[in-house]
Amino acid sequence: MSMDKKTVVWFKEVGKNDIPLVGGKGANLGEMTQAGIPVPPGFVVTAEAYYEFIESSGVHGRIKDILENLNIEDSAALLLASQKVKDIIMNAPMPADIASAIRAYYEEMGEGFVAVRSSATAEDLPEASFAGQQSTYLNIRGSESVINHVQQCWASLFEARAIYYREEQHFDHFKVGIAVPVQRMVESESSGVMFTVEPISSDTSKMTIEAIYGLGEGIVSGEVTPDMYIIDKASRAVLTRNISHQARMLAKNLNVLPGEDPNSWLTVPVENQSVPKITPTEIDLLIETALNIEKHYGCPQDIEWGKEKGKIFILQTRPVTTVKKNVEQQEEIDAAPILVGNAASPGFGIGPVVILSDANQIDQVKKGDVLVAQMTTPDFVPAMKRAAAILTDEGGRTSHAAIVSRELGVPCVVGTKTATKVLTPGQIITVDGAHGKVYDGAIKVDDKDAEKEAELEKLQTKTNVYVNLAQPELAEKVAKRHVDGVGLLRAEFIVSQIGMHPLYMIKEGRQEEYIQKLYEGILPFAKAFYPRNVTYRTTDFKTNEYKELIGGAEYEGSEENPMLGYRGASRYIHDPEAFKLEIEAIKRVRAEYDNVNVMIPFVRTVKELRTVKAIMEECGLVRSDKFKLWMMVEIPANVLLIEDFLSVGIDGVSIGSNDLTQLTLGIDRDNDLLADTFDERNKAVLKAIKHTITVCKKMGVTASICGQAPSVYPELTEKLVQWGITSVSVSPDMIARTRGIIADVEKKLNS
Ligand code: PEP
Ligand code: MG
Repeated sequence: MSMDKKTVVWFKEVGKNDIPLVGGKGANLGEMTQAGIPVPPGFVVTAEAYYEFIESSGVHGRIKDILENLNIEDSAALLLASQKVKDIIMNAPMPADIASAIRAYYEEMGEGFVAVRSSATAEDLPEASFAGQQSTYLNIRGSESVINHVQQCWASLFEARAIYYREEQHFDHFKVGIAVPVQRMVESESSGVMFTVEPISSDTSKMTIEAIYGLGEGIVSGEVTPDMYIIDKASRAVLTRNISHQARMLAKNLNVLPGEDPNSWLTVPVENQSVPKITPTEIDLLIETALNIEKHYGCPQDIEWGKEKGKIFILQTRPVTTVKKNVEQQEEIDAAPILVGNAASPGFGIGPVVILSDANQIDQVKKGDVLVAQMTTPDFVPAMKRAAAILTDEGGRTSHAAIVSRELGVPCVVGTKTATKVLTPGQIITVDGAHGKVYDGAIKVDDKDAEKEAELEKLQTKTNVYVNLAQPELAEKVAKRHVDGVGLLRAEFIVSQIGMHPLYMIKEGRQEEYIQKLYEGILPFAKAFYPRNVTYRTTDFKTNEYKELIGGAEYEGSEENPMLGYRGASRYIHDPEAFKLEIEAIKRVRAEYDNVNVMIPFVRTVKELRTVKAIMEECGLVRSDKFKLWMMVEIPANVLLIEDFLSVGIDGVSIGSNDLTQLTLGIDRDNDLLADTFDERNKAVLKAIKHTITVCKKMGVTASICGQAPSVYPELTEKLVQWGITSVSVSPDMIARTRGIIADVEKKLNS
């Protein structure tokens, strides 16, 4: 029994000081068990068991020979060496005393499904956390299978990436041991990750919770975009709530045959796909648990959790090693990005693009390249280390690519959706990891500008500086800037999050749900900017975009030219039922925050404007001192007949220079071939803008601009102010510069 005590131990028998025996993960599981944190029960096959195996089976010398003269930068040789070592380990028999101890503990635990996890003794230390370093096997059942998987965990200590990492960090291969926690499987109905510090801004007053349906591997691998909550730790209030659509979940396959993957992707029932994955009570419980864990360890934690039959279990916790300087300090480039994704790791990276479709291609990545992949896995790590920057199509802020690249200090943008498709191998790009943006070419960044920008932003101006904003999680942060409100809140972003066509939801009798979700999407903006104006621009999807939504194909025809098709105000008139859901959501938000006002896009005729206004009035949304109604000026007809449009009775206009340029020049704004000619500084476009502003000024209504023009060509702002624009709405990165330009012009005009 004393032998067993050393080679196998219960979680409750070990604590945080037992890393040499049970590894970082095992020590944490023990520590949490002892602290009363709800950890699924289990035992650890200790590092001593592993060492005993390595020595007694005689594999030590054979492994040493293979690794001795290995050049780890030669990816092909590294992979081959790794395979040889793993084969040696898998083919050597497990010492009988260890095998029988494992059997005994497993039986005492009540058998059933377990997770067999790896816990390297040099892993999960505060300075050396390294995501996904060794294998984890879920849903393992039967003592022989458990024993086999323990051995697989031992072999995983010699995965190529692990060998590479140890060499890099100068760890002796044989001083790093591996323990194997065997833990009762939590069959998570939902699961996720919590950070007790906001992982991107490193704001320690906030924490985040991510939640998905099914097993948590979906989040870590980046395959599922989770629901995301940002929480104020002091008040425990949810500051931001972003509900994602989830169509598939990873779950245990009950009919699995021996040797088959015990997990499979199941379809989430349609009615559950777009609803929150966890209830408010569960959120409270998770916050409570996370804060307890952080308090227990005395530093920010990265926690994996699972929910089974309504009970929360903690599957893992480790210190967050990525708390670095606040990203707000990083300068932003004044250019239009070619790709936008989630800011994952701050810093700028410049280099040629290398697109990988599989981890076995990693040796294509040379030092200084920009690694582009659908997503990364631990097998990508050696290449990630060589990369100047990393881009992925998929994944959230806590996905593998995000965590690893932060630790490596490599700038990274995840969830670009299309990086692997739109970039060309060899193309030189600049990646801005702090802002999640990618620019064409090599852009040198002058860091000194940051201070100057902060000074500009403080200036006071008569002309309002608004911001174009659609990401609820940015609302709070951007609202802290010196900005006078939101000049354009595009509703399409919120509707995409809902994921379903409004008419389909009506058919299903789910209109109430649609309204509620829309309300929840608008609310963070209203709240964060209150009492400043938030201009909600009613939906302006085109037919092809609507078609992408669930149920969309049923309701959308095929159009040759969706830009010129069934969009904007025309839709509200032909499909008032869908429009009324939007009105109802706005009314609900306004019942709490009356700073939300409405702007109607793409109005073709004066009659259309009159009709839309009447529908809104019929639903109780009536223009008043407290409720403003604006129209976008995006069609040349709006400019030519501006007086007539204004006479319908509106509070003013906002110039949609994107569509206005498209229609003035007759250029499809999405056409790459004509992109050079698509220029808002074209004289015809400027004439249209000037006319609109001048007439509005004369008629005493407001004139704003919310197209990209002033964000892309800041020099336009000077002209706009001279003509009498009342507000300029720009992307968040341009707030300070725009304020500065306006202050300058106003000073000149007054002198
Ligand atoms: C515009 O057309 O300028 C505008 C702001 O609207 P969108 O880009 O959403 O069409
Ligand atoms: Mg438009």
